[in-house]
Amino acid sequence: MPELPEVEVTRLSFAYRIAGAQIESIRVGKPLRWPLGCSMDDLVGCRVQAVRRRGKYLLLDLDHGLLLIHLGMSGSLTFNRTPPMPGVHDHFDMQTTQGVLRLHDPRRFGAVVYATNEVSPIAQKLLGKLGMEPLGAEFDTVRFHAGLLRRRAPIKQVLLAGELVVGVGNIYASEALFRAAIRPTARADGISRPRAMRLHQAIREILTIAVQKGGSTLRDFSNAQGEAGHFQADAMVYARAGHPCKVCGTVVRTIRQGQRSTFFCPTCQKP
Ligand SMILES: [Zn+2]
Repeated sequence: MPELPEVEVTRLSFAYRIAGAQIESIRVGKPLRWPLGCSMDDLVGCRVQAVRRRGKYLLLDLDHGLLLIHLGMSGSLTFNRTPPMPGVHDHFDMQTTQGVLRLHDPRRFGAVVYATNEVSPIAQKLLGKLGMEPLGAEFDTVRFHAGLLRRRAPIKQVLLAGELVVGVGNIYASEALFRAAIRPTARADGISRPRAMRLHQAIREILTIAVQKGGSTLRDFSNAQGEAGHFQADAMVYARAGHPCKVCGTVVRTIRQGQRSTFFCPTCQKP
C-alpha cells in the first residue's frame, strides 16, 4: 500500500510539471472507490494551480475547486506528455496542455474526487479527521505527547490509526518504534515525555529519509516517472522476523496487532 512517503515522492515527481496546465479532457475507466462527484465537462478548461498533499491524499488545486486523489491499496500516478494507450487497469486519465495524468490501479481502492473547497462536505468527510502532518510545523512534541496521554491503545495501533498523526503506516510505525526503543505493545498513555520526544523525532527522521530515498519498494509502488523507491532495503526490523537485530543480534520477532504484522527487537525495544 502506498504510504505517506510514496505519496509525497509522487507529488514531488509531477507537481512542478503540471502546475499551470489546462485540463483538455477526462477519461474515466472502471468505477473507483468513490465517484468523481462532478461531470467530466465541468473540469474541462480548468487550470491546475498547484499540487499539495494532506495525509495520503494529493490535492490538485484548480481555479474552481480541487481534486482529491487517493492511491488506495495499489494505485500509482504517472504524468507523461505522450503516454501509451490506456491499459485495463488505467481508470482515470486527465489530458492537460502539459501532459496526461493517469491513475493506474489494479485493485481500484483508489479514487479521484472533486470538491468545491476544503470545507465542503465531501472534503470534510475525507480530510476532516486526519491527524497532524508528521513533517509539518504543527506536529510538535507537546501536542504529540498530550495526544498519547489521551489514548489507552498500544502505541503501534495509535500511530496506525492516523487520528493523532497521519502517514505513519505499517512499515514506518515498526521502524520508528525501533529507532525510539519503544515496544510496539506499550500503552500510549504510559509513554513518558522523554520517550514521546524520542518517538516524535524518530517519526520525522524515518519519514524524511523515506522521502529522500524515493519511498518504499514494497508492492508495486512507483512514482509518476515510473522509478522504484529504495527505502525497504534499509529496514531495521520490518519484514526481518527470524533475522538477527542489526544493532544487538537478538532475533527480530513478529506479532499480530489489529490484523497487521508488527516487527520488533525484544532487547532494543523496552515495554
Ligand atoms: Zn536489538
